[in-house]
Amino acid sequence: MNLHPQLDPTLAPPFPQAALPMLRNPQLRKNVAHATDVIQAKRAKLVAEKTDWQQLRSGASALRAHALENLGFYLEQFETRCTAAGGHVHWASDAAEARQIILDLLRQENATEVIKIKTMTSAEIQLNPFLESAGINVFETDLAELIIQLGEDEPSHIVVPALHVNRSQVREIFARRMGLANLSDDPQILTTAARTHLRHKFLSIPTAISGANFLIAETGSVAVVESEGNGRMCLTLPRTMITLAGIEKVLPRFQDLEVMLQVLARSATGERMNPYTSLWTGVASGVTPGDGPQHFHVVLLDNQRSSILARPTERQTLKCIRCAACINTCPVYRQTGGHAYGSVYPGPIGAILTPQLMQMHHAQSLPYASSLCGACYEVCPVKINIPEVLIDLRAKVTDQEREQPARFFDLMYIGMKMANFIFARPARFHAAQRLARIGLRLFTRRDGWIHSLPSLGAKWTQTRDLCGLPTQTFREWYAGQSKTEAK
Ligand code: SF4
Repeated sequence: MNLHPQLDPTLAPPFPQAALPMLRNPQLRKNVAHATDVIQAKRAKLVAEKTDWQQLRSGASALRAHALENLGFYLEQFETRCTAAGGHVHWASDAAEARQIILDLLRQENATEVIKIKTMTSAEIQLNPFLESAGINVFETDLAELIIQLGEDEPSHIVVPALHVNRSQVREIFARRMGLANLSDDPQILTTAARTHLRHKFLSIPTAISGANFLIAETGSVAVVESEGNGRMCLTLPRTMITLAGIEKVLPRFQDLEVMLQVLARSATGERMNPYTSLWTGVASGVTPGDGPQHFHVVLLDNQRSSILARPTERQTLKCIRCAACINTCPVYRQTGGHAYGSVYPGPIGAILTPQLMQMHHAQSLPYASSLCGACYEVCPVKINIPEVLIDLRAKVTDQEREQPARFFDLMYIGMKMANFIFARPARFHAAQRLARIGLRLFTRRDGWIHSLPSLGAKWTQTRDLCGLPTQTFREWYAGQSKTEAK
């Protein structure tokens, strides 16, 4: 199977290493900054017009927390209601099992081609390369996913996967892959080219794969929201529909959508309502060919979600509704873009979700890919306290490192041990201060600043200056003052 190493957390380099080429790519940074600015401005405007926004956030947060606290009950209810409506529910404990279930279902249908609605969960389990390696051609129908697929690129954002690509780059990809040499970069022309390319697929391929924004336990329904209508086409035209959803996507009642759809649309794309909200419940009995799927399967994916649920602080990660508001506002993401995160889930949500999906065996650098400014928490429509989870995960990484013999050779570990030794006794501390003052005097310029240090210190002064140490410490100055007053 041809996996995508760039977004496979088991193979991707650590974040600081992966971020370097992105930071050196001005075009990418310009594309990312422009796109996130536009989405953020739209979101801010629509959030401001809701006077009850904070109450909506609290409601959405409480709804998601309640669903997670009673997840077993609601999942079983979903299974019962979906099955009663003619659907089939499959349970997958991990990515490999989910991939195999989907492949077996496609083989039952003798499928050699499949159309897809954008689903991050399928990217999480590396479904496309797996199906391709099994001889099944996958066609993405979401415009951004199509750009990524034709450009042999990787998604860099969970709502706008091709956010890092600009119009002229899209024109080049379409011209090359669709054989349209004279294509202009007018958005209308580009979308028409995509529509023409996809129309034939919608009409000729009888099997589709989707994700789910929400699963409704009360009715056994699946909800998908999207902006282009490609999802609606995938849901209504094919004979067989396979939905892949993480187990955390369940909502107790149909009425809960009232709150969730309001916060999702505003947070994700800065719209009052998603242009297309599709809801379907199993298959209708006596359905006529061409009127919705006649075979409907839901694959419920665990893939470490149960173990995240078992941990009280980290559990809130599962409240996520994948709106990407935290990503758009994150000062780190806005500099690096999504590929640096080495996962299909970038930004703050990726920084907490990916290491947990990897059982903390991979992606340990991601909890540090944050300034802990808290902007993500402020915008999150379901009030996930991302900084709190980040700090908790950092503690876990530190605990892991403490177990490793290699720590004895780690400069940070050695430095901290030395600091511990020095800070333990006032006499040692004062001696160290005196020595540092004498040593640093050699590097302090006339303006009172240190502009460059040798050896390890060079990393610090490469990008910032250091204020030179004063000639006396505060304690020395204070002691001098006291003596003067006593006289
Ligand atoms: S963590 Fe919150 S803001 Fe970020 S994607 Fe999830 S729901 Fe949206």
